Amino acid sequence: MTTARKRIAIIGGGSSGLTAIKSCVEQGLEPVCFERDGDVGGLWRYKDDADAASVYRSCVFNTSKELTGFSDFPVPADYPPFLSHAFFLRYLRLYAKAFDLMRHIRFNVAVVGVRPAVDYETTGRWTVAYRRRGDDDADCVVETYDGVMLCTGHHWNPHVPTFDGLDMFAGSVLHSHAYRTGKDMMGKRILIIGKRTLLTEAEMTNDVNRKSDAIRGQYVQSQRHTLEAFWIPLMDELAAEVGARPDLWCLFKRDPFLALRCLVGPCVPAQYRLMGPGAWSGAKTTIQDTFRNTMAPLKQRAVPPSDGASQLIVVDKCVDGGVATWRIYYAAILMLLLLVFMYKCACALVA
Ligand SMILES: Cc1cc2nc3c(=O)[nH]c(=O)nc-3n(C[C@H](O)[C@H](O)[C@H](O)COP(=O)(O)OP(=O)(O)OC[C@H]3O[C@@H](n4cnc5c(N)ncnc54)[C@H](O)[C@@H]3O)c2cc1C
Repeated sequence: MTTARKRIAIIGGGSSGLTAIKSCVEQGLEPVCFERDGDVGGLWRYKDDADAASVYRSCVFNTSKELTGFSDFPVPADYPPFLSHAFFLRYLRLYAKAFDLMRHIRFNVAVVGVRPAVDYETTGRWTVAYRRRGDDDADCVVETYDGVMLCTGHHWNPHVPTFDGLDMFAGSVLHSHAYRTGKDMMGKRILIIGKRTLLTEAEMTNDVNRKSDAIRGQYVQSQRHTLEAFWIPLMDELAAEVGARPDLWCLFKRDPFLALRCLVGPCVPAQYRLMGPGAWSGAKTTIQDTFRNTMAPLKQRAVPPSDGASQLIVVDKCVDGGVATWRIYYAAILMLLLLVFMYKCACALVA
């Protein structure tokens, strides 16, 4: 007898929704993704429409492609080190295609309500009400799912602060949610206000006190910063929960150079694919290729074909030279750690 696969409703087809679909499939679940837009990409699918949620036209990631990419799907080497929205959308489409995710998505369908099902207490199921684009309120469809994943993002509704005297301001006021290009602002004097930059003395004191607190004081409490956290501790914590946190000691015994890269090199997402559930055979190469990947788009200038072979060798040498330098660097750190260890042992013996 076969057991019916659990059906999971995923709301949103942005980067979170796509990776949620993939994870559901991997876990033997049946995902149904609802996306109110006509395509994947979420915020990173640029739209001129100021009412839609979209990054602005000149927006480029401020996180490097090495850290931004999914842990088992590195951003292609020839993409720029910091992706524009167009490149990121291209990357998301590659991801969706590589893992055949599109067939799980219902486009132009907006979820309008999620509620515990009537039998929730015994089954844990949820009802999801949705409507297709263009349908009127009466055409709302309700389906029941075993679970719901909310991947709706957190930049869809602008938080519009109020300021005393704002109604007396004669100029135009624009929330960053509606900002697309600076063309209407050419030649004008602009005042950019972040609500939290207008702090009262009490708020500033409070803020300073908060910052001195090791747990809570890392970020300004602002509407924009709800999801910020330290990358490595957060990832380690989440990975530990699912058993994917790399055990560096085990790794060190197996592959000391790789362990050192993980310890002192950039903490790229592929590190969380080295062991545990979801371990991926491409993780080691991805980690090793980090620097090569970063440099690759910077070496795209067409070289005149006059002496093609030797030119190619020069490029190759540069890349390999970089890798060799890193090997020496890691070996030096390894030696240093060994010396410290031996020194500590000697101290312990003398004592
Ligand atoms: C200007 C700007 C710059 C940023 N820069 C970076 C950066 O450099 N690095 C970084 O990591 N992050 C950055 N971010 C954060 C950004 O939120 C994430 O990169 C990413 O877009 C989050 O993906 P998501 O899938 O969670 O949400 P979104 O990309 O917002 O996607 C949510 C999806 O849900 C759909 N949806 C919403 N409600 C419904 C509904 N009721 N029914 C059906 N579908 C629905 C939407 O149509 C959308 O497709 C930036 C954000 C902004 C605004």
